[in-house]
Amino acid sequence: MLPGSFVERKRACGRPTCHCADGKSLHSQYQISVLIDGKPKALNIPAELVERVREKIEMRHRFDAAAAAICSVNLKRFLEEKKEERPA
Ligand SMILES: [Zn+2]
Repeated sequence: MLPGSFVERKRACGRPTCHCADGKSLHSQYQISVLIDGKPKALNIPAELVERVREKIEMRHRFDAAAAAICSVNLKRFLEEKKEERPA
């Protein structure tokens, strides 16, 4: 898993002869937006790692969702048990 969120940015590289010079066919730059020591950072992802990084960040989101679902079920159970144990 990887933390943070996956960000795609469009940018022009600045070379006047490049296809991006028309301002429409821009380059895609992929980044991980993440907190490091409490500070937001944008880390560039090399093109060959984009799919792996995207999957690992998505995995983290599924993990968080699963953890939240388990906590919610456990809390419900805990509250029910607490009710039953309380003397009438
Ligand atoms: Zn360019």
